[in-house]
Amino acid sequence: MTGTSAGAVLTGLADIRGWQEDLYRHLHQHPELSHQEHRTAAAVAERLRAAGLDIREGIGGTGVVGLLRNGDGPTVLLRADMDALPVREETGLPYASTTVATDLDGHEVPVMHACGHDVHVACLVGAAALLAEATDSWAGTLVVLFQPAEELGDGARRMVDDGLAALVGDVDVALAQHVLPMPSGVVGTRPGPVLSAADSMRITVHGRGAHGSMPQAAVDPVVLASMIVVRLQTVVSREVAPTDPAVLTVGSIHGGAKSNVIDDHAVLELNIRSYSEQTREAILAAVRRIVTAECQASGSPQEPEFEMFDRFPPTHNDAAATALVRAAFDTHFGHRAQDLPLQSASEDFSDVPEALGVPYTYWGIGGVDPEVYRAAEEAGRISQDVPVNHSPAFGPVLQPTLDTGTEALVVAALAWLAPGPVS
Ligand code: ZN
Ligand code: ZN
Repeated sequence: MTGTSAGAVLTGLADIRGWQEDLYRHLHQHPELSHQEHRTAAAVAERLRAAGLDIREGIGGTGVVGLLRNGDGPTVLLRADMDALPVREETGLPYASTTVATDLDGHEVPVMHACGHDVHVACLVGAAALLAEATDSWAGTLVVLFQPAEELGDGARRMVDDGLAALVGDVDVALAQHVLPMPSGVVGTRPGPVLSAADSMRITVHGRGAHGSMPQAAVDPVVLASMIVVRLQTVVSREVAPTDPAVLTVGSIHGGAKSNVIDDHAVLELNIRSYSEQTREAILAAVRRIVTAECQASGSPQEPEFEMFDRFPPTHNDAAATALVRAAFDTHFGHRAQDLPLQSASEDFSDVPEALGVPYTYWGIGGVDPEVYRAAEEAGRISQDVPVNHSPAFGPVLQPTLDTGTEALVVAALAWLAPGPVS
C-alpha cells in the first residue's frame, strides 16, 4: 500500500547520500554533551532550512523543530536526539572524536557519540530532505523534532515545557528510532513494552560518629548501609514476579573517610529499571520500607532521606501504530524487518507523545557490520565481541546503517502520509 509512495520518495536517496554521509562524519567528529548541542542544532537547522522546512530553534534549550505543511492529511512527528556522552572514543575510525568539553559540573571530559545519536540526526535530516523533495507523493504535515539531552532524561521534557504542543499543533502519531547492536540493515519493531523505565535514587542514612575503637558510642552507618545493600537484593528476587523483568542496582556507596573514624552518615545511589508503572511503584515502595526498617534496626538517630533523580519514563509502543509501521517495513525491507527483543535501556522520547496525547512507536535499527555480527554469533560471543551503546568501541558502520535509518523514517511516515491505498 505504501510501496509506491515510498519508492517515489526514496529515489532521491542517491542524490542526498553524499552530503548525508558528510554530515554524519562531521557530527561524529564534533560531538556535544547534553544541553550543549549548539553546533549540532545549528547544522540541523541549516540543512532543514535549505530543504524548505519552517524552522523553530532554541526550544527547551537547543531543541529544533521543523515543519513541512503539505496539504490536508495526518500530521506525523519524527524525532531524533542530538547529544553525545562523556566517553573517550576508541573506535579507531578515521573520523573518530578527539573532542574534550566541560560538562555541567565544570569537569573537563572527553566526548563521543557512543550512543549513535549522530546516526539518528543524519537519518532524520535526510528523511526530511527526501520528503520535502517529493511533496506530490504524500499529503499532510511533517514535523521533525531534534531534542537535546536524551542521555540525561530531561531533554524531551524541556521541549514539552517550552511550549512544544502549541508549536506543533495536532499530531496523529509520533515515531522514533535508535541504532542498536544488531546487524546493520536490520530494522526491529515491537508492540507494547520496549524500553524500561529508569529511576535513580540517592539515599542518605544517618549514624552517630565516634572513634573507631569505641563502637559502643556509635551507630555505624557503614554497617547500616551494608545491611541495606544486601537486603535490597531481595526486592526483585522476592517481591517481583519472575515473569516481570526488573533491575535494582546499587551503583554507588559512600561512607567514611578514615579507618579509625566511624562516620555519621552514608550515601547510597540506586538505579531501578522496570517495565510498568505498577512494578515501578512497588519497587520504590519496597526500597523505602527496607531502608527505613534497617535504619530503625540499627538505632539510627535520624530518618533516612530519599532523593529521586535521572528519571526516564517507560516506552510502551502503541499496538496499532506499531502494526502499521511493521506492515510498511515488511513491504519495504522484507526479511530485514524483524522483531525487536525487549530492551533494558531507557529513553525519554515517550515524554513527547505522552504530553501531546498521541500514540507512538519506537523501533531499532542495526549498526554492526553484518560480517562482524555473524562471526560473533557463530562463536557464541555476541556479548563479548559486539560493542554495545555507550562503549568506547561503539562505532556503527556508515552503510547500510544510514540508508536503513533514512528509509525506515520515510517508509514509516508514509504509512500515515501516503495518499489513500495505492495498488
Ligand atoms: Zn545512550
Ligand atoms: Zn541513545
